[in-house]
Amino acid sequence: MEPFRVHILGCGSALPTLKHFPSAQVVEVRGKLFLLDCGEGTQIQLRRSRLRFTKISAVFVTHLHGDHCFGLIGMLSTFGLLGRTAKLTVYAPAELADILQRQIAFFCRDLDYEVEFIAVDTTKQQVVYEDRSLTVESIPLEHRVHCCGYLFREKPSMAHIRRDVADFYEIPISQFNNIKAGADWTTPDGELVPNSRLTEPADAPRSYAYCSDTRYMPTLHERLKGVSTLYHESTYGEDNLPMAEKYFHSTARQAALVAREAGVGQLLLGHYSSRYEREEVLLNEAKEVFENTRLTNEMDVFDV
Ligand SMILES: [Zn+2]
Ligand SMILES: [Zn+2]
Repeated sequence: MEPFRVHILGCGSALPTLKHFPSAQVVEVRGKLFLLDCGEGTQIQLRRSRLRFTKISAVFVTHLHGDHCFGLIGMLSTFGLLGRTAKLTVYAPAELADILQRQIAFFCRDLDYEVEFIAVDTTKQQVVYEDRSLTVESIPLEHRVHCCGYLFREKPSMAHIRRDVADFYEIPISQFNNIKAGADWTTPDGELVPNSRLTEPADAPRSYAYCSDTRYMPTLHERLKGVSTLYHESTYGEDNLPMAEKYFHSTARQAALVAREAGVGQLLLGHYSSRYEREEVLLNEAKEVFENTRLTNEMDVFDV
């Protein structure tokens, strides 16, 4: 199976600490790199991650709180210093367009690459990006400002050729793509070999949902049915439920409720409030509801 991974660059929340960087992740799908959010220090974390970050082709910003976008202009400037020429596309709520344009005009006059801006309607679940191997959808979230998550879905891949059967019938490689697409094979003697004998089913398409920041949404799971891996913010524990409600954030237990209702494969927690010395408290509260939950930390890499 081709790699589909998430690299955690930052999983803290708004208040800077020595323990965590603010929100940023890289999604790696079939050799392509996409950045999710770009908190302060993202470019430092990209260096640390040893990812070939010049290959990042798009940045998806969830909302315009500083802990999710203060790193953007610095990173764009550095890409310029590094001689980038490939276009970079920024997907974000519409309000960022003007701010970013002014910053680029002032600080990055001589960029040798194009920064394309695509405004995302945060109130709709819709495909905002598509290429040969995947789609990215916006997922409406409920936060203090316009906010959406992003859902990466692999497109179904073709069936696998059974090499032993193909060798037995001496099928030329030139026919493999037809067979992967569903064709049968007829031998020179006229024997029909059905496709089901020639192939094994394709790998089930994987999907990754990134939901940060949001208050608990009792119906969010409907948009996330069967997702392989869900990252859901878990700023607080149950001890701070009133804070979560007041600031439109979620508790770890609430994140786990979404995961359980959606029937996801695994749940990743993050966007931790700096008040938690030990995040295991959050993990334990989530696990009581949804067992396959993991804490994220800077430089962790998760297979979707
Ligand atoms: Zn935040
Ligand atoms: Zn926020």
